[in-house]
Amino acid sequence: MTLPWLRPTWLQLISSAQQGRLGHAIGLPWLPELGTDKLAEHLSQWLLCQAPNKGSKACGRCKSCLLVHAQHHPDFLRLGEDSESSIGVDSVRQLQQRLSNTAHQGGHKVVLLANAHNMTVAAANALLKTLEEPPRDSTIVLATNRWDSLLPTVRSRLQHYQVHAPGVETLAQWLTQHAQTPVQTSESLRLWCQRPLRALEALQQGQDLSASPLEAVLGLQPLAKSTNQAADVIALLDEFETLLRDALWLSMQGAAQQCRAPQLVEAAGLQRALSLEMIAVADIEQALTECQQVRQHLRTGRGLNPQLALQRVITPFLAKLQPAATAQA
Ligand SMILES: [Zn+2]
Repeated sequence: MTLPWLRPTWLQLISSAQQGRLGHAIGLPWLPELGTDKLAEHLSQWLLCQAPNKGSKACGRCKSCLLVHAQHHPDFLRLGEDSESSIGVDSVRQLQQRLSNTAHQGGHKVVLLANAHNMTVAAANALLKTLEEPPRDSTIVLATNRWDSLLPTVRSRLQHYQVHAPGVETLAQWLTQHAQTPVQTSESLRLWCQRPLRALEALQQGQDLSASPLEAVLGLQPLAKSTNQAADVIALLDEFETLLRDALWLSMQGAAQQCRAPQLVEAAGLQRALSLEMIAVADIEQALTECQQVRQHLRTGRGLNPQLALQRVITPFLAKLQPAATAQA
């Protein structure tokens, strides 16, 4: 599957590398729903490939490529992919050890450090030493969507590359092509621009994107009949959790443009609700805990009415948020 919105960044990376200007440490966004995890993976594979096709793509056939696919490449280390776990000094030591070895495949060594904002301060300080004196023939690809949470000294050692989300027209075309169902551009579709892969998944599950989950979550539309299905309810819970995590981020003075779902945040009137102290951090944390409990219940399928369970989590929070959303609309 091609992700056309990643192409400009990809070409920039390849052109830097071909001109010998690619840094030892690259900063990329980590937004799996936008596919930037694939960008980081492709870059890693391309750097390790022994015979890149015409210079712009990993060959997919050499020993290095096969080892990457099998997740067994001795010169490639992936860290931090669990977005909920912190990255400690031990992981950074592992990274340092991997990079200080001689390359087994005789070429490059690559470490992909995802969710880099999860590094502890001690880990970030340890990493800083490696960034200051990078080992030969090695690249660290450091990815996060929360640059503000990284030590400025780490941030400043990286060569940064931006990714731009598709516009609503590109998104509609791309979805039409991949979901094999016509998708029209609309205001609701705009809510999905930052999350095209999630939108595709939703379409494939038969969800109507014009009735965005956020609207359902916010009570702007009645929940569709199908939301009695546990899977649909879990999808709505995911949306709600994204909103809650952004709320936590904003409550820590995080930048609005680094929210995971900026359009959702705007539509929910979240910033206003926080600034007016209509919701407190404790409310957000409680709602997150309840989301996890409901999700667990739904997965084990123990005699719970999915829609009621969903409403029980969401309604109290929305009751606090709703006046802000209405005021903004
Ligand atoms: Zn290859």
